[in-house]
Amino acid sequence: MENANQAQNAHIHVLVLPYPSQGRINPMLQFSKRLAHKGIKPTLSPTFCFSKMMDTTAISTHYGPTINVRPISDGFDDGGFIQAGSISAYLDGLKTFGPKTLAQLIEKLAEEGDPVKAIIYDGLFPWALDVARKFGLSGVLFFPESCSVSSVYYHVHCGLIKVPLMGLSPTTVSIPGVPELQPSEAPSFVANGSHPEWLAWLLRQFSDVDKVDWVLCSVFYDMEKEVVDWMTKMGWKIRTIGPTIPSYYIDKKIQDDKDYSFQRFKPITTLCKNWLDSNPKNSVVYMSFGSLAKLSEQQFKELACGIRNTHQSFLWVVRELEQAKLPKEFIDETSGQGLVVGWTSQLEVLSHEAIGCFVTHCGFNSILEALSIGVPVVGVPQCFDQGTNAKFVEDVWRVGVRAKVDEKGVVKREVLEECIREVMEGEKKEEFRKNADKWNRLAKEAMSEGGTSYKNIDEFVAFLGKC
Ligand code: UDP
Repeated sequence: MENANQAQNAHIHVLVLPYPSQGRINPMLQFSKRLAHKGIKPTLSPTFCFSKMMDTTAISTHYGPTINVRPISDGFDDGGFIQAGSISAYLDGLKTFGPKTLAQLIEKLAEEGDPVKAIIYDGLFPWALDVARKFGLSGVLFFPESCSVSSVYYHVHCGLIKVPLMGLSPTTVSIPGVPELQPSEAPSFVANGSHPEWLAWLLRQFSDVDKVDWVLCSVFYDMEKEVVDWMTKMGWKIRTIGPTIPSYYIDKKIQDDKDYSFQRFKPITTLCKNWLDSNPKNSVVYMSFGSLAKLSEQQFKELACGIRNTHQSFLWVVRELEQAKLPKEFIDETSGQGLVVGWTSQLEVLSHEAIGCFVTHCGFNSILEALSIGVPVVGVPQCFDQGTNAKFVEDVWRVGVRAKVDEKGVVKREVLEECIREVMEGEKKEEFRKNADKWNRLAKEAMSEGGTSYKNIDEFVAFLGKC
């Protein structure tokens, strides 16, 4: 039956437009693989600069059509964001060149006899809907972050939350389906008014949220059911299709889908695996702050002393360019206790039985992975949506704690040490682990036959079939 459906969908070609960063591309690439598994033909369209980093023109799915990579331009084809030099220059380039080169790509694909039916776009490309409409295509908005965060932005867009929160009254965010958020728990652009250009850009996606054909999000329903229900009541055609992590870690339905097929940096895998293999079950602290966060030297020092003082085994990802910020003696001093690497395969690490907890900046992919794989968390959020994700870790999903910062915004060594002890050895240790196991089960159920995401993906595929 599945094969018959796959053949039936083979003529359906969709363009998938991810924003060029590891964290935003992963969910859309995984969703593309799900579509390919159903026989749909997705083409991934990152920016030129990012596609050069991906170093491929096609991603093999092992089970059918490859996912072709056909880039568009942000105006900075050699160096992307870095070449642009500033946020506003980058966003201007994206606005000028993005729609133009997207339209050219759509025309080109039609000339090649492979016309597209729909564009699935990251909300950071709000102009994609206009291009889709110009060509009579369906437009699908994709949220690669939590629905609660998207709802906060929506309320700012509507003027119902004033920015910055800090210094205003009330200083908290109180919106339907989301627990009350203190400023430190709200997205940083909203809390402190930083980077107004980014915020304005993020808000634009909501101008058309009730006009798009679908809104898809990378979570699974149980994670955020209240806010998803509220969005549905608002009339948005929203569907949860996650967790958007490789099938191997969830339903094992897609053969060989074990990684994101793209790594921003070269992962050190064997060394990490050997290190984890040499440690007992649930004993290792895994620490990583994702692909973008730049921590201060002071923060590195506190984290280094904190993790050392726990005497727990650890695996710490510190990107190569950040490693100079580690205290000089740290790596030698802790050589028997832990391992520092520049990048790893996070999914492999999280799913290793030696892992006891994940100290994370709470980037949304990292959180989705921790919940789906079932790993307790210590949240050390830095910026963007991470404070909101940390709030959910502690108060909604209840899989761990959030480390508090001092008046300078630094997590002190004693605080980190205490948080790790609480999650690894404290009174609530069992509760965190039990909850982590529950989210792992719910994630699997959502993606398995009859589950919420499974049904939503099928509904979406059926829609594409009628486009
Ligand atoms: N990641 C990885 N290896 C590492 C660190 C991170 O593969 O050593 C992956 C991780 O699995 C996640 C992504 O990089 O999918 C980071 O995304 P996230 O949203 O957590 O954070 P961002 O990098 O966007 O801040």
